[in-house]
Amino acid sequence: MKPIVSKDSIVYFNDECYTALNAYLEKANHSKIFILVDSNTYQNCYAHFMSKIEKEYEIEVLEIEPGEINKNIDTCTSIWNVLAEYGADRKSLLINLGGGVVTDLGGFIACTYKRGINYINVPTSLLAMVDASVGGKTGVDLGNLKNMVGVISESEMVLVDTEFLGTLPVNQMCSGFAEMLKHGLIQDRAYWDKMSDLSKLTTDDLDQLIYDSVLIKNKIVFEDPTEQNIRKYLNFGHTLGHAIESFYLTHPEKPELLHGEAIAIGMILEGFISAAQLSVTELELIQITQVILATFPKIDIDPNDYKAIMELLIHDKKNEKGNIYFVLLNTIGDAKYNCIVSDDVIIDAFEYYASL
Ligand code: NAD
Ligand code: ZN
Repeated sequence: MKPIVSKDSIVYFNDECYTALNAYLEKANHSKIFILVDSNTYQNCYAHFMSKIEKEYEIEVLEIEPGEINKNIDTCTSIWNVLAEYGADRKSLLINLGGGVVTDLGGFIACTYKRGINYINVPTSLLAMVDASVGGKTGVDLGNLKNMVGVISESEMVLVDTEFLGTLPVNQMCSGFAEMLKHGLIQDRAYWDKMSDLSKLTTDDLDQLIYDSVLIKNKIVFEDPTEQNIRKYLNFGHTLGHAIESFYLTHPEKPELLHGEAIAIGMILEGFISAAQLSVTELELIQITQVILATFPKIDIDPNDYKAIMELLIHDKKNEKGNIYFVLLNTIGDAKYNCIVSDDVIIDAFEYYASL
């Protein structure tokens, strides 16, 4: 699979990852290499990754607890401290070996430590392969507010080795499918059709779908790295999805929601709004709903929580001058940004989801 080139980074796939990595490490001559993992990726992915590194380097492992709850500034502070204790300098390299939490957090740590050291993303979850590790968005949550603090700065390279998926739990695989479905919905009808039927999926098919998903994301990010216009498309499902994710994150008595699971709900809600306000047909809405519900459990959102969830929308990063902007669909494969939606239509969308 041909590497995918972006503005300041390059995404390698499977075997080519390690050829590229070994050549890079040999040439770059880093003072020290740090590998950020969480306890799951240390257990399941670290040995495989290390077996591919051909030469001896000075390597330190930095381990964090897994989960979105740890994607915060406190975890950064502890890692910054450890880096300082190890004497990490500007010629140090940070390799993020993990899911989107590790790549978002590690990217942010690398971009800020000593005003920036080089970093490489080695995504180990499906979601991180197709989305989080590509495009240079890094950051952490602020309390219950998702990705409130961060910077955009691309990694040196992204290494997508689909072997890692062998140990990924099924619900985490599905979480990644949410972002892949999103890529089809916003940009590519044919890709959506392929993603709509995952029943006879082979490993080769999955590798190709992952590759195509990265292509879609990369094309958008390449044209609009700082989210002035079309990069906003990638937020489809994420305006309400993030609000739902934030709300559930801070209500431990409610069921735990993975990022992709929240985004899946967000895509049904925003699909409904697209049908209400733009030209998504009833048939398309049914298709979007059915495909998503075939992969994701329906969550019973308490109607008493709608208001609290909607209040979180005010912190959405797409907002400007007090307006809440949504990305909606004109049709499957064609998105529109900066759409204004009234509270009544949002409530209608929640009621549609509740009725399913
Ligand atoms: P995650 O990093 O929490 O990984 C999910 C779980 O799977 C974790 O428990 C992790 O330890 C485990 N895991 C990962 N790889 C594994 C493997 N190979 N084997 C066994 N277990 C493994 O979450 P995620 O779903 O990968 O990513 C979600 C995060 O990504 C969110 O914080 C979201 O905001 C962020 N994100 C960022 C962007 C971006 O552009 N930067 C885009 C999409 C999502
Ligand atoms: Zn997402």
